[in-house]
Amino acid sequence: MILRLDNPVSHFSTLKINEMFETIQGEGAHTGVPAVFVRLQGCPVGCPWCDTKHTWTLDDALVTTADNVLKKDAESETHFATDAKGLLALFEQEGYVAKHIVITGGEPCMYDLRDLTTRLHARGYTTQIETSGTYEVLCHADTWVTVSPKVEMKGGYEVLTSALQRANEIKHPVAMEKHIEELDTLLARLDDISQVQVCLQPISQQARATALAVKTCIQRNWRLSLQTHKYIGIE
Ligand code: SF4
Repeated sequence: MILRLDNPVSHFSTLKINEMFETIQGEGAHTGVPAVFVRLQGCPVGCPWCDTKHTWTLDDALVTTADNVLKKDAESETHFATDAKGLLALFEQEGYVAKHIVITGGEPCMYDLRDLTTRLHARGYTTQIETSGTYEVLCHADTWVTVSPKVEMKGGYEVLTSALQRANEIKHPVAMEKHIEELDTLLARLDDISQVQVCLQPISQQARATALAVKTCIQRNWRLSLQTHKYIGIE
């Protein structure tokens, strides 16, 4: 596969929101924390096991109202467009109780998230971004950045060293030994891996993937991340 080394450097400023809902963070370092999930539209990375393929397409014909998106009861490609100020107004309208905001996708780092995360921190929220690491991460300094690196996917995007360096947590999807080797290659790009929390997450709850992740976490003193929301049937 030929990697595209020219990962896009310009970021969208208008936010395109596919879903927004209050739930419990099911995976990674913040597992169990009540959170508002903001799912941004658009992702060119092309992971075959992706469970949010409905977020891939960015097309103006799919734009609808915020009300329609907030009322969604099934996955769809429709989304609404807003800016950081408009999104905060919607948070107040919806009366969310959670104080942790998870910005996910899709690939949320296609967007410039500095304005949104800065406004959220100013209002007393904590923020978290879940990214594939294929775009430069633009956000508030206190945002918790979870990089779940996607290596050699169909879209041909490279995992950026700048994204790995910004990560508070590197949460690697694993199904086979080659994924551990990929992770070792990525970690070798960092000067000091003690500054980042490394965890393994079995792909699609497969039994073999889970056994490999458990064994490797014990050997390496890494953390195990399970997609607990899938075990208990919440979004
Ligand atoms: S990066 Fe995330 S949203 Fe994009 S294809 Fe991969 S799993 Fe899906």
